Amino acid sequence: MAFTLPPLPYAPTALEPHIDAKTMEIHHGKHHNAYVANANKALEGTKFADMAPEEVIKQLNDVPADKRTAVRNNAGGHVNHSMFWQIMAPAGKGGGGAPSGDLAKAIDGAFGSFDKFKEQFAAAAAGRFGSGWAWLCVKGGKVEICSTPNQDNPLMGEAVAGCGGTPILGLDVWEHAYYLNYQNRRPDYVTAWWNVVNWAKVAELFAKAK
Ligand code: MN
Repeated sequence: MAFTLPPLPYAPTALEPHIDAKTMEIHHGKHHNAYVANANKALEGTKFADMAPEEVIKQLNDVPADKRTAVRNNAGGHVNHSMFWQIMAPAGKGGGGAPSGDLAKAIDGAFGSFDKFKEQFAAAAAGRFGSGWAWLCVKGGKVEICSTPNQDNPLMGEAVAGCGGTPILGLDVWEHAYYLNYQNRRPDYVTAWWNVVNWAKVAELFAKAK
């Protein structure tokens, strides 16, 4: 079964004004779609073609060497974006606010407070040079912040991605994610993005990852 582009769980306009509809349409319909198509092309005829994309990127070292970079970039891109759409929701309708319950406790325990977590996460997003992602991961039952270049994902493991763990929140800091609306102002995009984070979904991923 080849990978397919998952539908956006809301309309492209739904995250405005924080993320504009044009960006959402191009990001989902063109960029994510290209990752899906290129991952399928790279994996065609291999045993990985029938696996879940998360499983494929955990086993990059077993992917034939001539396909490994394409799989890393494109199956990585597919996993990353599939999560990204899910952990956002329209502001005030599932998006924004603060985490609660066990996730709030884990964040407070690891970073001191939700505000301190946001500061550190924003710093990881701003400090990622060029294209990549900022992550909140579960590792050893605790939550950690890290960032990866390109379409690397912590599931690829520390040796490949530079950090490990199970991601429960990811922020795309590629220019294609924000340039139409924010141009070079990545920190403004990050500040606005908190308004559309779907903490209920992140809590669900946290419960699974623990
Ligand atoms: Mn992207």
